[in-house]
Amino acid sequence: VAEVPAECVIGVDLGGTKAIAGAVDASLAVHYRGRREVPTSDLEALLETLTELVEEVREAVGGEVEGVGFGIPCLIDQDRGLAASSVHLPINGVAFADVMAERVGLPVFMDNDGNLALLAEQRAGAAHGERNAVMLTLGTGIAGGIVIGGELYRGSQGAAGEFGHMIVWADGPACGPGCRSRGCLETLVSGTALSREALALASRSPASRLGQALAAGREVSGPLVTELAFDGDGDALALLEELGTWLGIGLVNVVNIFNPDVVVIGGGVIAAGELILAPARRVLAERALAFPAEHVRVEAAHFGAESGMLGAALFARERLGERVRA
Ligand SMILES: [Zn+2]
Repeated sequence: VAEVPAECVIGVDLGGTKAIAGAVDASLAVHYRGRREVPTSDLEALLETLTELVEEVREAVGGEVEGVGFGIPCLIDQDRGLAASSVHLPINGVAFADVMAERVGLPVFMDNDGNLALLAEQRAGAAHGERNAVMLTLGTGIAGGIVIGGELYRGSQGAAGEFGHMIVWADGPACGPGCRSRGCLETLVSGTALSREALALASRSPASRLGQALAAGREVSGPLVTELAFDGDGDALALLEELGTWLGIGLVNVVNIFNPDVVVIGGGVIAAGELILAPARRVLAERALAFPAEHVRVEAAHFGAESGMLGAALFARERLGERVRA
């Protein structure tokens, strides 16, 4: 059993395939971590998995938590408290926070996962103190967040910041279910895209290290590509170079539109670090308008793959504070 912390909240980052949760105190120290693969087609099974995850974290810190924050991969209708539209999960039209509050018996707050990842980075991470920042979280898809003038910008309906569905290749690959377009940034720059390209390479080049890994029954996906690239494998380096180049194309658009102080790149794919950031910065320097391009920093998320979980906890803590004051 973990040390019993004072005044923990639980932050849950719900992704397109898995959820990570942590018991987080007021200084953002994480006292317990849990994770689950999540069912992606059955709503009841998804809610049950999330309930179990919250209960596991709660019990691990002795039961005393004040509330739960969820970052969910979904456009959110904050006025009506509904999960409005998700590309990856069967939660459309669900009053997600209310349903989860009923199940876990705690106050529950929700926001878009990309917003909450940036909240953590802007409060205490790579965008700390910056007035204008954007973040792209590269996972199953791409989550996005925008801070303007020090505040999260959510758009008229809470649907802003969907950088993953910025079209960067008009006739590119078809996007996922829930998106009607093709050539969206996330079809080229995401863990899913990296896995797809790695599998294609492994299949057509059985003698390559990726091909050998496939033959040996290993899972050919982003983490393996990153591992091989750090080991100097040319094919893996080329895959990450290509992903980073496409990321740079997306960032050209983002920087020309927002003129941010900093662009933060997070999510599982950022484990590759400079192997994707260096080509992205190069494209940005070559193709973005020079004035904003010379100003902006492009940084890996300070909290790595935990930005979303920490942001969800911060969000819950801030909302609980508002309740007390109100
Ligand atoms: Zn799309």
